[in-house]
Amino acid sequence: MGIGHRPGAVAASELGREMYQFVAELYPICRSITGDGVRRTLELVGRTVPLETFEVPSGTQVFDWTVPKEWNIGDAWVKDARGERVVDFRESNLHVVSYSTPVSKTVTLAELSEHLFTLPEHPHWVPYRTSYYREAWGFCLSEERRSRLADEDYEVCIDASLEDGHLTYAECLLPGRSEKEFLISCHVCHPSLANDNLSGVAVTSFLARHLSRLDLRYSYRFIFIPGTIGSITWLARNEAAAARIVHGLVVAGVGDGGPFTYKRSRQGSAEIDRGMSHVLKQSQTSHQVVDFSPYGYDERQFCSPGFDLPVGRFSRSPHGEYPEYHTSADDLDLVRPDHLAESFLQLLAIVDLVEHNRIYVNTNPKCEPQLGRRGLYKVTGGQADQEVMQLALLWVLNQSDGSHSLLDIAERSGLAFDAVRRAAAALLEHGLLEETN
Ligand code: ZN
Repeated sequence: MGIGHRPGAVAASELGREMYQFVAELYPICRSITGDGVRRTLELVGRTVPLETFEVPSGTQVFDWTVPKEWNIGDAWVKDARGERVVDFRESNLHVVSYSTPVSKTVTLAELSEHLFTLPEHPHWVPYRTSYYREAWGFCLSEERRSRLADEDYEVCIDASLEDGHLTYAECLLPGRSEKEFLISCHVCHPSLANDNLSGVAVTSFLARHLSRLDLRYSYRFIFIPGTIGSITWLARNEAAAARIVHGLVVAGVGDGGPFTYKRSRQGSAEIDRGMSHVLKQSQTSHQVVDFSPYGYDERQFCSPGFDLPVGRFSRSPHGEYPEYHTSADDLDLVRPDHLAESFLQLLAIVDLVEHNRIYVNTNPKCEPQLGRRGLYKVTGGQADQEVMQLALLWVLNQSDGSHSLLDIAERSGLAFDAVRRAAAALLEHGLLEETN
């Protein structure tokens, strides 16, 4: 990433529309933690970025877990006595509990009711339910529809298979000048849920596409994995790569209109933690920075004590804290192109920050060098910028004693990282700074 690069150079509104279109294209696919829905999703991601897909056999031991059987589904329904589909998988894949075992039989309403899930507090919404680690079958429907079911016999059918197969995940690795890695992870295991899942997939894919065109300092590894079992599987197979991770983010829930939420890594004050706080603060958008807790998305695994990686989580509304979460209302209306674009720009800003965050040494440390003589008081064109740049030059010169990074200087001075880095670039050009190892 060249010094002249600016996040604002990205045509954000066009990008927002493209990402939204991608979310809409992925939305109908029935995904789960394994199966053809994940493969189809990764195929579509692979059109945007170079992707390597991995298939891990069912039964593979991954730390304390075992890769489960593969689940695939063709069709499913509940038919009433007249043969009408009163619950229909073709209408929405949320109608079937994910990982349901195959079933085909006639049941009474009482028996059927034991396998039905609704959301009485939102009578028109369909809940999202899974049964990954317990063999069971079930249907999800709106409370409104359930309340209209007559007391009669129903034919239930779930044309699914739960058999030995594979867990599928994919990686996009962008090699940089350093082998040290920035990991960006998103989950690909939810069916038709737009914000929880697809917003992260879209923003992550487009960030990978954008970075693939740049000259990068760090290597960037984007992973597209099913939640929990996917990150555990990836870590079990990639301990060597994990050791190279110096920054990381789990990206999830970035398409809704809520304020940005950054959840710190377990380390708490890693460069990614401080950098993300700085980026959000400087962006002057509403946001919160919260401490690590061993609950949430895949940061739970990346921050388990045996790895303790500097991996935080970047979201908008936190999972479970918005009413549409894990329901049919997490749909294409909840996610908006401009929300996706804003999230993308925040991620680009943190990449820009870590790419340029370095420690320098002032080559003229005894008293201030004469900046006017070197034309350094006019390093930038904009009049409003002059005062900020003068301050930034003085701060960088004063603090660059080989122990303070540009982020340290930005934090201490209260100046934007971008101003500090432009000042450093100008000083470097005039031989007043030198890079340390
Ligand atoms: Zn979820």
